[in-house]
Amino acid sequence: QRLTQGLSRSSKQMGEQITSAFVAKAPLDQAKLDELEEMLIEADLGPHSAARITERFGQEKFGKAVDEQEIKEALAEAIGDELSAREGDFAPLSGPRPYVVLFIGVNGSGKTTTLGKIAADLTGRGAKVLIAAGDTFRAAAVEQLKVWADRAKADFMSRPTGSDAAGLAFDALERARREGYDVVLIDTAGRLQNKQGLMDELHKIIRVVKKLDPDAPHETLLVLDATVGRNALAQENIFGNQIGVSGIVMTKLDGTARGGVLVPVAQASDSPIKLIGVGEGIEDLQPFNARAFARSLVG
Ligand code: GDP
Repeated sequence: QRLTQGLSRSSKQMGEQITSAFVAKAPLDQAKLDELEEMLIEADLGPHSAARITERFGQEKFGKAVDEQEIKEALAEAIGDELSAREGDFAPLSGPRPYVVLFIGVNGSGKTTTLGKIAADLTGRGAKVLIAAGDTFRAAAVEQLKVWADRAKADFMSRPTGSDAAGLAFDALERARREGYDVVLIDTAGRLQNKQGLMDELHKIIRVVKKLDPDAPHETLLVLDATVGRNALAQENIFGNQIGVSGIVMTKLDGTARGGVLVPVAQASDSPIKLIGVGEGIEDLQPFNARAFARSLVG
């Protein structure tokens, strides 16, 4: 329900285009197929997926009379098939303790919000959660995270502005081990303007955390904002190649008519999509389900 509502901008755009292109039940011809392919590209599904999906649809339906509903069903099925191998589970409570989750991504992508939502969900299930405010450059980010921590009734660690983020991460994990926390959530900076500096800092955080637990971080979640469209692909590329990512969170799918961008991101990435954000509320962060996503996207 929330998913469908959250994706309503995307599905409205695609739905209207499909409706206007396929008003009458007419035999599917090449012109209609081209129109469909163009529509999928416009929805940011990317040229490769658009071509594959259109081709598959053409093989099934060419020359046959199709109506709007059949098109939507076939599209949802094709997109669901494309994505189902890219689904991943985020299950911090079934892993080792303390389970260390690192949140990475550019500023504004929704890292803090996502971390806050996850903290609230985990404490709601009885877990003992420690949050480390590793974006030590932005005082506002630290304050915002503190609000989320209070709301979630999670414990919170921060350092003065400009402090070493890796030192904070080390202290947080040490405390978590000593005091029996279930999960440690580590926020990080995201100032891509200083790319090398940022990458060095993230590597350092990972290095010091490994000194305490060679398997940590157990998850490195890359947070991507769907509203930046195909820029999300470039971000996936940078963080995926330079840092290594275990799962992707795509946020703000409710804020764009181009939610289809999840498809090329999912296909370009080595790591699965684990969670999606379809609003600002705690319930709006959801496990990624490929078929449900595809259905809601198409409308
Ligand atoms: P950060 O800089 O990466 O930590 O980003 P923030 O967590 O501060 O998020 C930036 C803005 O995006 C905030 O206003 C959030 O409320 C908003 N936001 C985050 N996730 C979502 C989402 O799924 N949907 C919508 N509509 N807004 C979101």
